[in-house]
Amino acid sequence: MGFTTFGLSDHVIKGVKAAGYTTPTPIQSLAIQPALEGRDIIGCAQTGTGKTAAFVLPLLHRLAEGNDSLQSPRQNEVSAIDAPVQPAEGQAVHNARTTSGHAGKRHHYPRALVITPTRELAQQVHDAVHNYGRFMTLRTVVVYGGVSMENQIKLLRRGADIVIATPGRLLDHMQRRTVDLSKVQILVLDEADRMLDMGFINDVKKIIAAVPRDRQTMLFSATISGDIKGLAADILRNPHLVEAGERRNPAETITQHFYSASPQSKMDLLIHALEKEKMESVLVFSRTKHGADKICRRLERSGINAIAIHSNRTQSQRQRALDGFKRGEFRVLVATDIAARGIDVDGISHVINYDIPQYAEDYIHRIGRTGRATATGDAITFVARDDQQHLRGIEKYIGKRFPVKTYDGFTPPPQEIRSPKPITAMSGSRHPMSTHPRPSGGLHAGVSPYKKKSDKRHSAYPKKKKTFEYGRKKKPARKLDAFSSDAGSGWSNY
Ligand code: AMP
Repeated sequence: MGFTTFGLSDHVIKGVKAAGYTTPTPIQSLAIQPALEGRDIIGCAQTGTGKTAAFVLPLLHRLAEGNDSLQSPRQNEVSAIDAPVQPAEGQAVHNARTTSGHAGKRHHYPRALVITPTRELAQQVHDAVHNYGRFMTLRTVVVYGGVSMENQIKLLRRGADIVIATPGRLLDHMQRRTVDLSKVQILVLDEADRMLDMGFINDVKKIIAAVPRDRQTMLFSATISGDIKGLAADILRNPHLVEAGERRNPAETITQHFYSASPQSKMDLLIHALEKEKMESVLVFSRTKHGADKICRRLERSGINAIAIHSNRTQSQRQRALDGFKRGEFRVLVATDIAARGIDVDGISHVINYDIPQYAEDYIHRIGRTGRATATGDAITFVARDDQQHLRGIEKYIGKRFPVKTYDGFTPPPQEIRSPKPITAMSGSRHPMSTHPRPSGGLHAGVSPYKKKSDKRHSAYPKKKKTFEYGRKKKPARKLDAFSSDAGSGWSNY
């Protein structure tokens, strides 16, 4: 089945073709038709499944349908989608040219609003709209913290058909009355589970209260928890549930490997793997910002081109890092969880969990950066002795046992060998080079790593309060003040 069967307008189909897509992904096959009919949607889809196009394509079609003049009759007409807040160099020229014809002539209120938990994801959705809508003349403004408000205000004043925003900065604009959401017809909440995890629920509710009740709402989430169901019950009307695949399973295109590595040997193992394997484009996850910088420095010293992305970097540094990685200037991008959210880079061949994620959901999100759409990828996780409970959390969440192996050809540094608690015992393997799964019992016996029923996320540390950063002073999940900007909000600590 191709995209033409949905009844999408010619201009949208042309955009899809130009993006190089021939066959809809499962979530697209399920969501596009009801979305085109104006139905409210709950989309349960992991990142990397093509969920962005699943809501952007019907959104473009419906906006254009509401205004015929938005569809360009000419072939190859340049897009008039507006510039990102911090456009890439070439893009700025392109957009300046294409938007100049409208400046001052058209003043309109946003008719579609997409809310995302992170700046990177907002930018990614903006890029997708730009990509698929290239044969249409719709204006898009992307709004997030960490960059100047003035530029955003200027763009919003010029008028926008679509606003893509993170909650904190959008609330800032609402408070300043620099955005008017009273004409919004289509509302999308992307990665709603993450939005709730990050404490954005009250912000999101305030935003929704400013949007007309008579609208189409699409909510996308990797998991459908009780909280998501509660939110959906409040804001959706008779929603159509679309679910692509078993939501706890990572994409089938990803091969997962787990290797034993102590904290002392991880760096050497990483360098060994990067030197030994043909890994072209590698995303390495560190639990902390400091750790990300440290890894990056060590890789550079070993002659491996690497760059780090985390919230201590300015937005433009983050964008530059991402662009450089996309262009292949850096072989390795080292990221913390939140900074990596929304990283949509085609062709990431390997994801390496230098630090195993604390939450099983994060594991799914992390490894979903590779094996996107139909491509294949490898996910490698380093497992230290103290990580066993995290591993069990992941196994329980996914419903599968993962053997922890020793990395072929890797000899831990001397202090490892002298260690009184050899790393091989940790993995539960019977022999240092064994690749057999752990025997039942052993180190796992008697341990009850599973979460309490009341614990919403699948942490292997159920008794601990939810914290945002490993090794830092613990703090509970952030609650935003009514009108705080993203720049000063909790998630930017990542
Ligand atoms: P998403 O889950 O929306 O972040 O999309 C993941 C990746 O899949 C992106 O790089 C998209 O460009 C790509 N993609 C989305 N839809 C399709 C499709 N129908 N065919 C091929 N690639 C796609």
